Amino acid sequence: MIDSALTNLLLNFLFIIVGLLAFALYFDFKKKTPSKGIVIILSTFTILLCVLFSYKLTAGVYVDLRRIPFFLASLYFGPQVSFVLMVVIILLRYLFIGSGLIHLVILNYFITFLILAAFSNGFLCAKKKVKMLFTVVICFIMTIFNLVFGYVYEAEISRNEYIYLVLIPLVATIISVMIAEMIRKLIIMRRTLSQHEKLQVVSQLAASISHEVRNPLTSSKGFLQLVREEKDEELQKQFIDLSLKGIDQATHVIEDYLTFTNSTPDKIERINVKHSIVELIEMVEPLAQHVSFSHQLIDDIYVEGQAHSFRKCIGNIMNNAIESMPQGGKLSVEMIVNENLIIAVTDSGLGMTKEQIQRFGEPFFTTKDEGTGLGVMAANIIVHSMKGNIQVKSELNRGTTVYIELHKSLNLDAG
Ligand code: ADP
Ligand code: MG
Repeated sequence: MIDSALTNLLLNFLFIIVGLLAFALYFDFKKKTPSKGIVIILSTFTILLCVLFSYKLTAGVYVDLRRIPFFLASLYFGPQVSFVLMVVIILLRYLFIGSGLIHLVILNYFITFLILAAFSNGFLCAKKKVKMLFTVVICFIMTIFNLVFGYVYEAEISRNEYIYLVLIPLVATIISVMIAEMIRKLIIMRRTLSQHEKLQVVSQLAASISHEVRNPLTSSKGFLQLVREEKDEELQKQFIDLSLKGIDQATHVIEDYLTFTNSTPDKIERINVKHSIVELIEMVEPLAQHVSFSHQLIDDIYVEGQAHSFRKCIGNIMNNAIESMPQGGKLSVEMIVNENLIIAVTDSGLGMTKEQIQRFGEPFFTTKDEGTGLGVMAANIIVHSMKGNIQVKSELNRGTTVYIELHKSLNLDAG
């Protein structure tokens, strides 16, 4: 008899812990607090299991822990949830245990519902100890109610049994509230942490944007001032050209940043990879006289994406390669075709340490004085939007190869 009371109550306790765990897992997966609907479903399930494993004191009087999920859901999620669960408990009690003494169950839960509803607002702001004390008191009152019914209806309860029947619900309540509080704290911590991270990213982005936009604009302003003072028309023209260049540069920076917000209109095209790469090399070659360029490119290979973004991505990787060879070196671009297309950009530059390789592509990671640490990240975002990926192999003082793997688009021209 005692064994069965103990087993049933401990099983009930296990169901409650599993329910709380399911709640925490839901938050972990979905990254948001479960809605009231989910809370009701989860609590109903736990309550059902508790009712199914009720311990029968005597005809019509049953002991279990179904009140604990009811308390927790009521206190943390408010009177609406509380009311629904009260109805659920009474229904489940009726369906699975029967109608014996159901009026007393209704009375018991209705009074508890009123008390919980009255205190649910204050409960959330209360300290942990107060919360615990409050739930323990209510749980104790309900247990006593239960046992008094048992007594009135002539249940044969030994003194040992009393100890179990009073003690286990109390301990279970304390532990459940502690776990619920722990989960609540974790949720709050997670929220403030991610807000903090977001703020940090925004302020770093803002700082680097203003840095990159301000520099060319300041030089434009300088040249425009010179134009005002300059009498020579030829020089005036040159200054105007230079200041226009600065404005152009600033515009480009802003356009680049739009990659992150993805606010450029999506225009998916078939991109001829060889053409794009040759165009890029022709553009950067005159600016990097100290680097010797070579390429092994394959005709008629296409990928799908935005041509402008694709050029931006390969351009960023090529720029890094050039910047890693201040004393000169070799830059080669190679296309390798298997079931996918791999574009390998190899330089004979400074290379990277293990730590740098790990941080490759991390926002704001840069080893350059004037670097923004956004180039690789932008390339990564673009490649991922094309369902591809980027990998890097690098050896310090030897050089680096960046592999960009993309899906080939079917060659329609080859028909
Ligand atoms: P930035 O060029 O502004 O520094 P990136 O995101 O383009 O920002 O690059 C981040 C960092 O990755 C660089 O500062 C550099 O340390 C490292 N890196 C990227 N490509 C290469 C490369 N080809 N060789 C050596 N280091 C590289
Ligand atoms: Mg760069």
